[in-house]
Amino acid sequence: MIRNLHNKIINKEITSEKLTLDYFDAIGKKDKDIFAYLSLTKELALEQAKKVDEKIARGEEIGILEGIPGAIKDVLCMEGVRTTAGSKILDNYIAPYDATAVKKLKEAGAVILGKTNCDEFAMGSSTENSAYGPTKNPHDLSRVPGGSSGGSAAAVAADEAVWALATDTGGSIRQPASLCGVVGLKPTYGRVSRYGLMAMASSFDQIGPFAKTVEDAAIILSEISGRDDMDATSAHSSGKRYEDYLTGEVKGMKIGIVKEYFDSLSEDMKKAMESVVESYKKMGAEIKEIQLPHSKYSLAVYYIIQPCEVSSNLARFDGIKYGLRMDDEKDTDMADLGGLDGTPRTLLETYLDTRKYGLGAEVKRRIMLGTYALSSGYYEAYYIRAQKVRALIKKDYERVFNEVDVILTPTTTAPAFKLGEKVDDPLQMYLEDIFTVTANITGVPAISVPAGTIKVEDKNLPVGFQLMGKWFDEENLLRAADAFEKSKCKNQNAK
Ligand code: GLN
Repeated sequence: MIRNLHNKIINKEITSEKLTLDYFDAIGKKDKDIFAYLSLTKELALEQAKKVDEKIARGEEIGILEGIPGAIKDVLCMEGVRTTAGSKILDNYIAPYDATAVKKLKEAGAVILGKTNCDEFAMGSSTENSAYGPTKNPHDLSRVPGGSSGGSAAAVAADEAVWALATDTGGSIRQPASLCGVVGLKPTYGRVSRYGLMAMASSFDQIGPFAKTVEDAAIILSEISGRDDMDATSAHSSGKRYEDYLTGEVKGMKIGIVKEYFDSLSEDMKKAMESVVESYKKMGAEIKEIQLPHSKYSLAVYYIIQPCEVSSNLARFDGIKYGLRMDDEKDTDMADLGGLDGTPRTLLETYLDTRKYGLGAEVKRRIMLGTYALSSGYYEAYYIRAQKVRALIKKDYERVFNEVDVILTPTTTAPAFKLGEKVDDPLQMYLEDIFTVTANITGVPAISVPAGTIKVEDKNLPVGFQLMGKWFDEENLLRAADAFEKSKCKNQNAK
């Protein structure tokens, strides 16, 4: 898709300005229902687009992403633009600088349409935890788009953006990609700089793209990856263009599958996954059964370490440095805080009030869980033990990746669920991450690719499958994903 649009721009079949305006039109028509965007950056977008058109008019060469419109998840800072992280506590926060990934996209000439909705501070699996209201699934407006990057996924699925940038800490790119029928890539931990991303769980967080095709995701990755002095965990990528590795060939590639994962699925899901496996066999890949014995602890490990890191990272939102500050008596219920009418407010009251009113229920739950797990006496029993199990899970992956090139699993256990269905049951919501968290625990790259649709009630809802690759081997991961996509296209054309 990006390549097509790029060709149209350089052949003067369309201007970037016209393309950008078409996308704003689509947003105007559809986003009242879908609510993918929290804010639009129209002025900037048109300025960016015009620059590209001027280059074309001057006969200059342009890069592949130049003039192509996309969206940014609202946990990524963009200079001069409201950046809320889906939270009331940052309702009035204007970011003073660009996140490195955003800066790189700007430098690549990409057009940025706006900031997309997400679960508050990226905690959730349905986008229902956004303080600004939920995003709806474009395939069925009564269903969730997944989360936490539901806005970014829905924007791409509904053609309200060509591409979107998002973050994945436990599955927040891949799960919504699966539920919205688009491609979602979580790169290797360290592949993309996290500078300018609102830190949630820093040892898991990674930035990646949503797109309609694997090639588009590869193009975005090529632009945003690489070493950044502002993030000590970022790695050199030696200027690789990941889209150059998409040969459509998987002959001889070894793909690992875990039998129990498939056995646990509903009949429909199992069928969808088995047909993916069959396609790979037909293309000449070798399917191998593998064992990942410690992965059954992944969800438990994640939901101990993640809240611990959250409780520490979110301590910075106290009403002093960023966003909302509750320091006016009329703003609040003083009795609740033990204060007395008429007395000057204390710093502690400002902290407490700001966090009480500014943060939502799920974020508070995680802060409390994390604070508990890190407290003296429990730290060894929970946090340290979880870190030890994390090391065992990683060892399983190291062993298995000596035997296979990629691992294939479902991305989710089912297609999109109804709005409201899981919102009062945190455990059910956490189970959404069952197939995705392990890639964050181990740091390996992983991608969700549309597998097909499943009929639910009167709708055909999309589901994805997941491929996980070796550390820093996005080339083979993307090659495998792209080969499936190409084989599906061929089949459809043959029909
Ligand atoms: N659903 C997971 C959580 O709530 C993952 C979120 C994410 O990847 N940002 O923590």
